[in-house]
Amino acid sequence: MKNPFAAAAPEEHFPVEKPPEAWRASLSPAQYAVLREHATERAGTSPLNAEKRPGTFVCAGCGAPLFSSDTKYESGTGWPSFFAPIAENAVGAREDRSLFMTRTEIHCARCGGHLGHVFPDGPAPTGLRYCMNGAALSFIPEKREK
Ligand SMILES: [Zn+2]
Repeated sequence: MKNPFAAAAPEEHFPVEKPPEAWRASLSPAQYAVLREHATERAGTSPLNAEKRPGTFVCAGCGAPLFSSDTKYESGTGWPSFFAPIAENAVGAREDRSLFMTRTEIHCARCGGHLGHVFPDGPAPTGLRYCMNGAALSFIPEKREK
């Protein structure tokens, strides 16, 4: 679902910046809608919901590592959920007053791509639920020696 109320982001700059045409060329339509237009994918549609292997979830836009499988948990929401980012500075947050709610929007700190929102109803140890769009992420399985 595209969010028609998404406010234009204030003039913010990120290490990776591209004009919209360049993002469009390098992303799928679903990835573009989420990362660049703040869309929210339909719950339960991402194959990453069921991803349980050890590995790293990276930004589908720029490849920055964002979440580790160690912090992924089943929230029952239909979106990939994590209780913490892979590093404190991996993601950025800003207040989102769209859809008549005040939520905290989460984006990739490297390219500014929209990832999802964070809510204060997650599990220990953080009590946070990073509710992410699977379309905004790519999964890189960890190579573990047997
Ligand atoms: Zn990114």
